[in-house]
Amino acid sequence: MVSRVIPVDPFDLVIFGGTGDLARRKILPGLFRRFCAGQMPPSARVIGAARSDLDTQGYRDLVADAIAEFNSDFDHEADQLKGFLDRLEYVAIDAKGQEGWADLQKLLQGTDRIEAYYFSVSPSLFGDLAERLQQWGMADANSRIVVEKPFGRDLQTARTLNATLAKYFDERQIYRIDHYLGKETVQNLMAVRFGNMLFEPLWNSQYVDHIQITVAETVGVGGRGEYYDKSGAMRDMVQNHLMQLLCLIAMEPPARFDPDAVRDEKLKVIRALDPVKPHHIARGQYQAEPCNEAHHPGYRTAVGDPRSRTESFVALKTHISNWRWAGTPFYLRTGKRMAARSSEITVVFKETPHSIFAEDAGRHRNVLSIRLQPNEGITLGVTIKEPGPGGMRLVDVPLDMTFADALGPEGAEQVDAYERLIMDVIRGNQTLFMRGDEVEAAWAWTDPIIQGWEARNDVPKPYDSGSDGPTDAFELMRRDQRQWREVSA
Ligand code: NAP
Repeated sequence: MVSRVIPVDPFDLVIFGGTGDLARRKILPGLFRRFCAGQMPPSARVIGAARSDLDTQGYRDLVADAIAEFNSDFDHEADQLKGFLDRLEYVAIDAKGQEGWADLQKLLQGTDRIEAYYFSVSPSLFGDLAERLQQWGMADANSRIVVEKPFGRDLQTARTLNATLAKYFDERQIYRIDHYLGKETVQNLMAVRFGNMLFEPLWNSQYVDHIQITVAETVGVGGRGEYYDKSGAMRDMVQNHLMQLLCLIAMEPPARFDPDAVRDEKLKVIRALDPVKPHHIARGQYQAEPCNEAHHPGYRTAVGDPRSRTESFVALKTHISNWRWAGTPFYLRTGKRMAARSSEITVVFKETPHSIFAEDAGRHRNVLSIRLQPNEGITLGVTIKEPGPGGMRLVDVPLDMTFADALGPEGAEQVDAYERLIMDVIRGNQTLFMRGDEVEAAWAWTDPIIQGWEARNDVPKPYDSGSDGPTDAFELMRRDQRQWREVSA
């Protein structure tokens, strides 16, 4: 199967923070892959913008190094790299001052094309950038801005940021990025749910016992300790990534696959979420790896605060109060320095109401697991007869839909989430981006949880590096006679 690449219209993409970590690791290598795939039109330009004193050649060298480092497993010809680098320009600019803005204006003047501005800078600069773009006449009806996470740190700050951006741009011009929504499997989740008759009739509390969403990382806070300690797993992961996955798995079928129809349904899910009771949450902080403390210090050492109360792990149970899901618990879990890097959504169906197989004493449940990483794919566990003459014993086996196996190497070609989302920005498709009211609703649900911890001076429980989290998380499940799926790669 050969994947189709549909070129986008001519564009200029200005990356504010074009020298930063995200630009070098994800945005620029991703754009290069789209260039090699033939998706970028010949006249498209990518303009790096940051304070560093570089000329265009210096910037091209920096991007060439980034591509060599972060795209090392991507096969390409030398002339493809040169072709891409030739599209790059650089402007030294200060988001907070006036330096460089006249140069950027001059570069963009007189072109009749899509203008996209990627705010890959600290969120404290988002408002300044939006204001400067307006002030220098670069915010017209054809322009759009891409805003990175975190989008606020609570409801109040998110509202303020939404209001600031709304002064200069319409909602249809604002692309709040959550790269989880750009993952192939996440979109496949919608295809599986709404493109098949098979699942939808069973997709409710009558047939679904519970749903688990796990996003486990093996890395610790690394060099981001200072930022992370002010944020924690709830703000950094649950409020955005896990919430988005929860919305997609739980939402009603939208009338059309169009941005507002999809986002309206997601918003209804967030607004129907029950508040989380304190005893339905487990928080944790990872400990140092024994015998390897120098390389893998514990959380508090890594963030430089021996009394830190910020969680690097959180697990919680919540319910969605609507007709479809009343009574079905949703368990969410995410953490750092866990046993494996794995993101998975698991739908556990109920047992059959009555077993006709007297010889079989086991409990059998269909389990649909949607893996976002690694080995993107979908597996459905079904119950069959154990082969052999041993009588009518039942065994659970997986029906595996790993994309690479099902579609072959070309069909399963994995386009990185950032590549897909940037092309969606150019196409003007907001379906996979969060709307302002969605982000605010997510904070409105998250805020009381965090405020409760603060009011109770809650201290996260320690957990071993390389484990599946603190014992409280297992207790959360055990009390409900359920268990977490093992975190495995
Ligand atoms: P970073 O490595 O610190 O890069 C920041 C960039 O902003 C640099 O290019 C810096 O260049 C530029 N900059 C700083 N002050 C500026 C100013 N006054 N005017 C113009 N440019 C300025 O940060 P990052 O990790 O790339 O993160 C960028 C954004 O993406 C943040 O909002 C972050 O939360 C978000 N994000 C990052 C990741 C990631 O993996 N890195 C993941 C998810 C979200 P100069 O110093 O040369 O000005």
